[in-house]
Amino acid sequence: DVQRDDSVQKSRMQLPVFEEEHRILEAIHHNDCVIICGETGSGKTTQVPQFLFESGYGSPDSDTPGMIGITQPRRVAAVAMAERVGRELGNYKKRVGHQIRFDASVDEETSIKFMTDGVLLREMMSDFLLTKYSALIIDEAHERNINTDILIGMLSRVMKLRRDWSCKDPAKYRPLKLIIMSATLRVSDFSENKSLFSSPPPIINVQARQYPVSIHFNRRTAFNYNEEAFRKTCKIHSKLPPGGILVFLTGKGEINEMVRRLRKRFPFKRGNNYDDVAEVKVDSRNADMEAEEVDFSVNDMIDDFSEESSNEDDEEEGEEEGFEETLEEGQTTEDPLYVLPLYSLLPTKEQMKIFEHPPKGARLCVVATNIAETSLTIPDIRYVVDCGRSKERTFNEATGVQSYEINWISKASADQRAGRAGRTGPGHCYRLFSSAIYESEFAQFSKPEILRMPVESVVLTMKSMGIDNITNFPFVTPPTRDSLRKAEKLLQHLGALDDRMIITKLGQKMSHFPLSPRFAKMLLVANQQGCLPYIIAVVSGLSVGDPFISESEIIPRGEDDDENEWRKQQLAKFNKSRQLFTKLDKFSDGLQMLSAICAQDHIPRADREKFFEDNFLRPKIMDEIVKLRKQLTYIAKVNLSKDSIAASSLVKDEELMLSPPTKVQVEAIKQMITAGFIDHVAVRADIVDKNVKIPNNAPITAIQYLTLMPTSESNSDRFVYIHPNSVLSKCGELPPSYLVYQSLTTNNASATSKLRMRPLTDIG
Ligand code: ADP
Ligand code: MG
Repeated sequence: DVQRDDSVQKSRMQLPVFEEEHRILEAIHHNDCVIICGETGSGKTTQVPQFLFESGYGSPDSDTPGMIGITQPRRVAAVAMAERVGRELGNYKKRVGHQIRFDASVDEETSIKFMTDGVLLREMMSDFLLTKYSALIIDEAHERNINTDILIGMLSRVMKLRRDWSCKDPAKYRPLKLIIMSATLRVSDFSENKSLFSSPPPIINVQARQYPVSIHFNRRTAFNYNEEAFRKTCKIHSKLPPGGILVFLTGKGEINEMVRRLRKRFPFKRGNNYDDVAEVKVDSRNADMEAEEVDFSVNDMIDDFSEESSNEDDEEEGEEEGFEETLEEGQTTEDPLYVLPLYSLLPTKEQMKIFEHPPKGARLCVVATNIAETSLTIPDIRYVVDCGRSKERTFNEATGVQSYEINWISKASADQRAGRAGRTGPGHCYRLFSSAIYESEFAQFSKPEILRMPVESVVLTMKSMGIDNITNFPFVTPPTRDSLRKAEKLLQHLGALDDRMIITKLGQKMSHFPLSPRFAKMLLVANQQGCLPYIIAVVSGLSVGDPFISESEIIPRGEDDDENEWRKQQLAKFNKSRQLFTKLDKFSDGLQMLSAICAQDHIPRADREKFFEDNFLRPKIMDEIVKLRKQLTYIAKVNLSKDSIAASSLVKDEELMLSPPTKVQVEAIKQMITAGFIDHVAVRADIVDKNVKIPNNAPITAIQYLTLMPTSESNSDRFVYIHPNSVLSKCGELPPSYLVYQSLTTNNASATSKLRMRPLTDIG
């Protein structure tokens, strides 16, 4: 008895999924888990919840009284879809609600609840059986977010439990239906995963009505893709027949800039046609760590490629592919372009504008992040301009730092994006990269997020969700058991897990940092004696890499006398500079790096290049360290202050002015570094083994150390040695009894090479 608007009913009936209503309900009736695959825009998200609702799910007087829950990876989709479904449900509008972090519109009446996957995970911590739901739809499963993956693993268990309990006590428990929805056909990771589902769930493929899309690669890859996207969009608008344009860029900043330029280039004849909205400020409520758009990017592809690119390389006018058609009658080259931005942090009201008709005589142009790839379908798009990149959460394996970096998308994503142009008729997709790059650089599918993160971060996240038995967890794509066990051990050493492998209070706090647990621990213990900025600097340095150029690198051995003279001079200069940086402490490489960073802070920008050169420092690494310090300062502010986020995500340069630490601070800093590498302690061998004698004239790099914990590195020799690049190699006295090291390295080329440690500090 749902009464819908005629127009709503008409457009519903045109959706491919509508024809499958019966088949879908039938499958759900007979199976606890069903997988639905369907092209973006086929109606999965808006219609499947309504099918369930109309067949009695979420109705108090039915035998499936529990709510219908739908999860979304992005909060904007949760809000927008709840609103859309509410509108479609006409007289039952009130029965639809949404819940995202800090914002909810659910009450007793709610039957259909849209939420972010994070919200459902939190609910599971207090009610594992999720008894208030009778059906759960996990949407966008193809994205393989870590939250979605973990949810599917957990729900596969809940589903079984609910079935068992409902058999035993049908008055109290009812079964739970699980529906997994994907925009791609690639669902075997779920369906054929025996640890998830003992018998494979049925898969319903919704046949999409997809028109052909012609793909046009750029002949050369545009490294300045913003510029190229602007040019291409202008050309499409002034040369090609009607139809909306969808431009894919990577983030809020780029998008706002593009929107501004395009609006200026193709204005409305009679002034402004946009009801201007005040610039949206990211406040503490929506800028929590879930936000996809908080910009932590360290690496910028534009930087890396700037030398290769130049605008002269642009495609030459007229020869470009995909411009064979011409304007239709009534169109002019200067028609207004109705340009709308679309990204996660944009208020929902603004996002919903993409679903409205553009003003008469104007062409619609939406500039979007990959949110428009599958989450939201924009009507009447004929042209897609794809920069081929997206900003994605990456966890740098080597550095342990999480950032949002701009990377190439996968071929599957590029195809999804192209598909957006073929919803209402044949379309065109303009790829701002060459087919060679597409073939060589684009992965077939994007890697599941769980495999992009260090295992110890995954384990800590799961423990913080109350999942204690990690090794038996039904992962969609499991890390190896061995790596899971190692991760647990490390977390235990860091104090994040107790001796029963249960998360501690400290572990909970650590889990909020988008950093590897080692560094999270260091920052947490650093929040005293004014040491935080120093530890932030140290962590940044350890993350980015070694800023010091080594002696052997800069001063190659020369043959003739001239060069020898030059070598001597260089060497003197080198030693003088290194001595300067070891003034704080002669035993600690960590403090040597901190000294270099502090010194740099006090050099004006214009003079830094010379400073780096004079002191044999790597400029690129030093710059990266500054960038990372800003991010970490922001992250620390967010996580260490009670009232959450400061209004601005920017850290000013002045805030990074560090004076050298005091004597007391130096000792504290050493302890804090140790706290993060407590499993990386080495003792000088003569201290623990009376058989080891150190000759008086032994070179420091030949002195034996023993690691306190077994190392995973294969080593024929039981000892480890100080790396020649360490400050200790020149300390001129017997090196410390106990050392903390960052890593162990070996020169693989030679079978007899020693296992060398990169020391961080001595332990007093
Ligand atoms: P899927 O989940 O399969 O990608 P959706 O259910 O999200 O598909 O969308 C189905 C159709 O509904 C699309 O054609 C889309 O344009 C339309 N639609 C979705 N939300 C709105 C809205 N708020 N206003 C108008 N049309 C919408
Ligand atoms: Mg959808």
